[in-house]
Amino acid sequence: MNKYLMTPGPVPVSTEVSLKEARPLIGHRGSEFSELFSNIEAKLSRLLESGGKTVIFPASGTGALECLAANFTGPDTKVISVSCGVFGDRFREITALTGAEIINVDVTPGEGVSPSVAARAVEENPDAGVLLLTQNETSTGVFNHIDEIISALPEKNRPLVLVDGVSSVGAMPCFPERWGIDALATASQKGLLTPPGLALVWLSERAWKTAETRKCGSYYFDLMRQKKVLYKDAPENPYTPPVTLYYALDAALDGILEDGWFDLRRRAARALATGIESLGFDLLVRDEYYRSPGVTAFSLKSGDTPAISKALKSIGVEPAGGQGQFKGKLIRMSHYHDVRWPEISLALGSLYAALGDARQSAGDFMAAAFGRWEER
Ligand SMILES: *Cc1c(COP(=O)(O)O)cnc(C)c1O
Repeated sequence: MNKYLMTPGPVPVSTEVSLKEARPLIGHRGSEFSELFSNIEAKLSRLLESGGKTVIFPASGTGALECLAANFTGPDTKVISVSCGVFGDRFREITALTGAEIINVDVTPGEGVSPSVAARAVEENPDAGVLLLTQNETSTGVFNHIDEIISALPEKNRPLVLVDGVSSVGAMPCFPERWGIDALATASQKGLLTPPGLALVWLSERAWKTAETRKCGSYYFDLMRQKKVLYKDAPENPYTPPVTLYYALDAALDGILEDGWFDLRRRAARALATGIESLGFDLLVRDEYYRSPGVTAFSLKSGDTPAISKALKSIGVEPAGGQGQFKGKLIRMSHYHDVRWPEISLALGSLYAALGDARQSAGDFMAAAFGRWEER
């Protein structure tokens, strides 16, 4: 039976990208690796529409977050942590381990972070050195508008803005230089459509300068050790990189950089959400403005949501369940990969079948979803 992986990480990887991993290994201290590395850097610069280089090291997204915490926070730092769900909470927890003083700003899960909430916290804490934000809260399917949040921050005493972009980069616009992000953390297995295992960190000039003045408590995550070899004419990794994942990332970026990719993701999300709602499910994120282009969370208005998950799995469709307070209460379907109308109709048709008691004619929700898909 074919399995349709719809978890928001890992996400399905194309055959083309998977096959790249089968290429023979190359040494990581030679010109061939440096060339591959440089190609990836150039593609990442295009994707992020930003200068500077991206640090890449073997870890999952949590490792990328820990790297930011280790380099920019410590007992001398006051940190404002804005969280709207499980992953915002995790970034906060990781940062607290460095001994930093944390100011908690909690937004109701399922709702987006409004610019005024973050701006107020910064105004009230002019001595805060760091602000933590999550661009895409994967546990709820909330997409936060980081550009608007940063624009609303007071100019004076602006903290370093550290952004968890683990489930956003690749699938939705994220332009750190233009937006004023200081440090961006991401990973290979979500929007970047690559198997799990690579962590990526981009820094602004201000953040690189700050990193120079701080002592990092971690050897492996110390960004200054990375910088030394990253900025050589022939860039390297200070430690052994997972070379085959670099092959895969290099190939995956070509697909992502095709014209209209972000727009396709947004349309797919909108069509899927319309169909899901039309089938009688409740979308967790009520405000369409904050709905994620990568993952959609929903539940059955009156009924057994886990039973629907189970029924889906029995026919080969594998979504994720809820996390944290939503454990056992949500279905989360991802649409990071090249989901177009055939995949949307497969997901909706499977949900219809899983519902069993056919509440309405299949034509109605399909027509509603197709209408949104056709809308530009
Ligand atoms: C998946 C995810 C993480 C954690 O990434 P791992 O690769 O599982 O360590 C962190 N933040 C967000 C927003 C995520 O979606």
